[in-house]
Amino acid sequence: MSKKDRVSSTLELRGVSRHFGPVKALDGLDLVVEPGELVALLGPSGCGKTTALRIVAGLEVATSGELLVNGVRYNETPANARDMGMVFQSYSLFPNLTVAENIEYGLRARKIDSAKRSKRIAEMLELVALESKAKAFPHQLSGGQQQRVALARALAIEPRVLLLDEPLSALDAQVRGQIREEIRRIQLELGITTLFVTHDQEEAMAIADRVGVMSHGKLEQIDKPIALYNTPATPFVASFVGHANRIPAEITAKGKARVLNQKVNLFDSAESFSEGSKVHVIIRPEALEIVSETDSDATRGIVALKSFLGPMTKVGIAVEGAPLIHLNIASRDVRKLEIGDKIAFKISSDAVMAERV
Ligand code: ATP
Repeated sequence: MSKKDRVSSTLELRGVSRHFGPVKALDGLDLVVEPGELVALLGPSGCGKTTALRIVAGLEVATSGELLVNGVRYNETPANARDMGMVFQSYSLFPNLTVAENIEYGLRARKIDSAKRSKRIAEMLELVALESKAKAFPHQLSGGQQQRVALARALAIEPRVLLLDEPLSALDAQVRGQIREEIRRIQLELGITTLFVTHDQEEAMAIADRVGVMSHGKLEQIDKPIALYNTPATPFVASFVGHANRIPAEITAKGKARVLNQKVNLFDSAESFSEGSKVHVIIRPEALEIVSETDSDATRGIVALKSFLGPMTKVGIAVEGAPLIHLNIASRDVRKLEIGDKIAFKISSDAVMAERV
């Protein structure tokens, strides 16, 4: 199964709601995943992302709204007739079946003949680079290997759509990064329409063509990762995507604010504030620049935190009247900086946006 053999599907949710008693797990979700696209649904716990995925898979029923695949209504199609491949957080392999038998499971259920099954198993093992583990049982594999088998099993049936529900969260950090890259490589190679659910913004941004940020059962914004980061539609998206300082400020004119005695331009926001309004301004760490202590326009503070992150070091600056301000400094430049040192900084570029206090 290669990209050229596959006709990719369009997945569409139209006004999908799911209520559990008084809880609106989904509240009119609209989403289109284009053929061959990988969309990540990102959001805090309880925002409804797993419910959305389960409705697509047929494991949950929508209270209202429509699910369409290539324009055809799927609401009433049973889960086992939807041809969707799914990978869960817990590897959920059959413990008493070998790797090859796990991959074969869905093919047997579809009454594929033996010769074709063997061919598919070999292809899938090659795809996830586990040829040597065909006869192993799940308990003989590492977590990362088990998740690769789960992926191979999901893809063996040549699904219309691939659904991934927090597939990396049970893995340790290093393996998580590797498997993430592998999922993306395979997804691109096959050109399969994919919906990926995660609460980890870094993961979503790293893997997806577009990221949909969800809150309270709805999409706040869906866009390319870089657009979400640079032009968030709401303060919720601005602070949920990427790291941000949220600092008290005052509106001085339309689109302008004073923060820590510095002037900043505000990024366009749907909300307009009158002069003198007290707000919070969201400022990315990279918009802060360390300057000489003699610079009269700078804000002065004390180094209160130094957290080594490899090439970068996260520095926390204590400033009167503000929460700890975070910025990242190249580790090679930070060596001489000690906790308790005086430091001065400027806001070097525009603030992201203002939020009502
Ligand atoms: P998490 O990251 O914690 O899994 P999520 O964003 O995936 O969260 P959902 O699992 O979709 O969120 O749940 C959304 C809301 O619906 C939550 O308030 C949850 O408690 C509720 N909910 C989900 N499933 C059920 C159910 N079967 N019965 C009752 N309430 C439910």
